[in-house]
Formats: sequence, structure tokens, C-alpha cells
Amino acid sequence: MERRPVIVWFRKDLRLSDHPALGAALATGARVIPVYIHAPDEEAPWQPGAASRWWLHQSLSALEASLRALGSRLVVRRGPTLQALRALVRETGATAVHWTRRYEPAVIARDAAVKRGLRDDGVDAHSFGGALLHEPWEIATGSGTPYRVFTPFWKRCLETATPDTPTPPPRTLPSVSPDISSLSAADLGLLPSVDWAAGLRAAWSPGEAGAQALAASFAAGPGADYADGRDLPAQAGTSRLSPHLTFGELSARQAWHAVASALGQQTGQPWLRQLYWREFSHHLLYHYPDTPEHPLDPRFAAFPWADDPEGLAAWQRGRTGFPIIDAGMRELWTTGWMHNRVRMLVASFLTKDLRIAWQHGAAWFWDTLVDADLANNTLGWQWAAGCGADAAPYFRVFNPTLQSKRYDPDSAYVARWVPELAALPPRDRRSPWEISPLALASAGVTLGASYPAPVVDHAEARQAALAAYEQVKAAGRG
Ligand code: FAD
Repeated sequence: MERRPVIVWFRKDLRLSDHPALGAALATGARVIPVYIHAPDEEAPWQPGAASRWWLHQSLSALEASLRALGSRLVVRRGPTLQALRALVRETGATAVHWTRRYEPAVIARDAAVKRGLRDDGVDAHSFGGALLHEPWEIATGSGTPYRVFTPFWKRCLETATPDTPTPPPRTLPSVSPDISSLSAADLGLLPSVDWAAGLRAAWSPGEAGAQALAASFAAGPGADYADGRDLPAQAGTSRLSPHLTFGELSARQAWHAVASALGQQTGQPWLRQLYWREFSHHLLYHYPDTPEHPLDPRFAAFPWADDPEGLAAWQRGRTGFPIIDAGMRELWTTGWMHNRVRMLVASFLTKDLRIAWQHGAAWFWDTLVDADLANNTLGWQWAAGCGADAAPYFRVFNPTLQSKRYDPDSAYVARWVPELAALPPRDRRSPWEISPLALASAGVTLGASYPAPVVDHAEARQAALAAYEQVKAAGRG
């Protein structure tokens, strides 16, 4: 007698290789029914933003094509998730549902309810690892508490285990009966109604094949110079694997092995270490689930943030008058991604020069990043604002001009994203307010017209930020 089917519920694990939940389902010898359930409201308040929805559409289409190539297909349904899974169980006679764990608080709560509901029905509901190298609860300090500092966390991970070798994709898959109805990815309405996504299409190849190819080319090329190249936004010195990791088109294990086997753990170490920042952020989100909205350092709950909608809009649109900041924000808007060094600069600028609450920045990133990831985004913003784990101290305020000089020495990044300044000599592109009107005019630049005048005086803004910080410190002592 044929075994009753197993449903594999795909979420942010949109790949077929190195997929423990799928592998275990196939190992039972049963028919496997791959399913995606669209239920964004269940992830509120962090349902996918616009750039993530664009990526998701592409990634689901790629997964559907890969499944078809192996003889299967993707069954797409709408939520509520528990209802949709129960309906599928009824229709197919499935006895088990498998999925890969996620760590966002709303998703954990939803998944727990789904697991309870299915188990109450007598269905074997089973969640698997696969997104991380270490489950967040597996790593703890000597006293059993979560880590709040990166380096000891990383060392503990390294002592714990070397990531297992990733498993290959299945060679074939059992077919899915045509009687099982499905929507198409297009039915989910994930693509924008006004097509603003040309820049995203030009920059990315979503899907497992694109992810694997990118990992291999990074490991064979810029990966070896990562320690030097990673801080220069004008260069392709980083892997750009983040959206692929976020959507699980590539597992962390696959990423780790791609780099470790091509470069060796020694040469690969600077990059492999970054992958552990991703582990760390998930560890923190799991143990401190209210950090997407609230500062980990409670003193910052009383920080006197500015209410400045105009400043926020200038920042969002890349019109602050600080070229490196505007370049980053425009790179984000056009491609859905921003270089890490520049993410740190724009986050510092928002929270310190403009003194706007980090939550506004995190929300904008959430909507515009193709790699929007609740754990990484929360860590990044709390780090920059000085209120998170292992954070940059609030009193360290990045100077956009000096940072630009150091990390974009030829101002090539600025010229690419702020073309209205490209005719200026590289040195003058960093701080156009410092050069003479004549020099500006000869490059066709009019401050306040063709390019904005700076929205703040950096030195004054820095002083104001430090004064505000003194209040927080004083509150902490009180
Ligand atoms: P690489 O340099 O090639 O690094 C490899 C991988 O390691 C990345 O793909 C990522 O998964 C991980 N990684 C690298 N740096 C970090 C880091 N600082 N924290 C956590 N993981 C890291 N990353 C996201 O994936 N999603 C986000 O929503 C996100 N928001 C951020 C917000 C702010 C304010 C800041 C400062 C950083 C944020 N980051 C976020 C972290 C980092 O900027 C990106 O992961 C990185 O720029 C992605 O580019 P890459 O894949 O080329 O990285």
C-alpha cells in the first residue's frame, strides 16, 4: 500500500538542496507535496515590505520551475495558514507536515499554533533547522544566559561544531496529483502595480540557481580579498548573498562551505565571521523578541528623539545634501540593497545627525531592502543607534565627509549614485558646500537647486546628539 503523503510547507527556505525538512519527507518514501501559503497578515507588524514582495514573487517562480524540472510542482494557497494546511490534509490524506523553522516572534507564535492545531488533528507536524548554523537556544554563556557580545558568541559557535556538509538536491521528486488545486505566484499580487522594479531586475537573479552561482563566483573571485575590499562601496567586494540567504535560496551551511572549501578557513575567515553576525542577530531576536520595536538598552526608551518628518523624507529620498548619505539611500531605492559600510553611515546620520528614532529607519529599510531580515535589520539599527547588543556607543558619531574620504577615496560611489555631482573633481564631491560657487557653477552644480544644500551642520548636529545622550546617561544613573 502506498504511504500517505507528507506536506512540505515552504516559507523562507525557497530551495531544494540542503533542505532538512524536504530531505526528511523524501526519506519516508511517501509522496511529497510542496506547498506555499500566502498569509502576510500573520507576520504583522513585520509582514513583507514592497521590495521583499518583489523578490518573493521571483523566488516562488524559480522554485516552481525547479520543482517542475524534477517532476513535482508547487501548490500555492492563501492563508489563514492553519486552515489552508487542514484543507490540504483533508484533500490529500497527508499524515505529516514538515517545515523549516523561522525565528521572528510573530512567526514563532503562528507556527506554534499551527503545530498544536495539526497535532490535535492527529497530523505529525514537525519543524526542522536549516536556516542557521546553530539553533539560537544551542549557544549559551557559561552561566546559561544568552550572549549579548559578538566575539564570545562567535568563539562559542566555533567551539561547538563545524557546519555539517550540505546535502545535494533530490534527483527526482514524486509527482503531485493534478486534482490538487493551486494558485500561481502571479495570483498573489506580489508585484508592484506601478512598475518601479527595473533597477531590481537589473541587479539580481532571485532563486536557488542564481544564489549558488553567486556564492561560487564570490568564492572564486572577490572572496579572497574580502578583508580589504569589504569596506569600499564602489567595489564589488562583498558577496551580495544577503537576499538569497534571507529567502533561504541558499542555506547558511551552503554559504559557509562554498567559501571555506574554495578559500580555506584561514583566508575565508573574515567572510565566515560575517556569517556569524547573522547567527548572532538571530540569537538575539530569539532571546529578546521585543527588540524590533524596543531598544535592548532600556535607557534609550526615554531618548529625546526629534519629530522631523521633513528630515526623514530628505533622508529617505537621498536628498540630505551629504553625498555619501544620498548615494546610499539612492542605491537602496534603485537596487533594493545598500553596501554595509554605507548602511552604517546612513543609520548613524538618521539617528545622530537628524536625531530621528532608529525605528523609522528600520521601517524604511524593511520596505525597501530585498534582504529585509528582522533579525539582521534590528541588530543593524540598534547597533547604529547605540542601544543594542555590542553596539557602537552613541557618542561615536560618524562624520560623513571623513568616512567618504576614507572608504570612497575616488568618490566613484558618489558619482555613480549622485550623478548631478559627477562633474566635480573627486575631492569636491564629498562636501560640495565647502567649495566656491564658481567651482560649483563650472561643474553645473547649484546648491539648493540641482543638488540640496546640507540639511544640517554636522558639527552642530553632533553636539546636539551628544547633549541628548547626556540626558539618557543621567536617566540611567537616576
Ligand atoms: P557580505 O559582506 O558578503 O556578508 C555575508 C553575509 O553575512 C551577508 O549576506 C549576511 O547574511 C551576513 N552579514 C554580513 N554582515 C552582517 C551584519 N552586520 N549583521 C548581520 N549579518 C551580516 N542584513 C540583512 O541581511 N538584512 C537586513 O535587513 C539588514 N539590515 C541592516 C541594517 C543596518 C542599519 C545595518 C548597519 C546592517 C544591516 N544588515 C542587514 C547587515 C549587512 O549590512 C548586510 O547583511 C550586508 O550588507 C549584505 O551584503 P552582502 O551579502 O554582500 O554581505
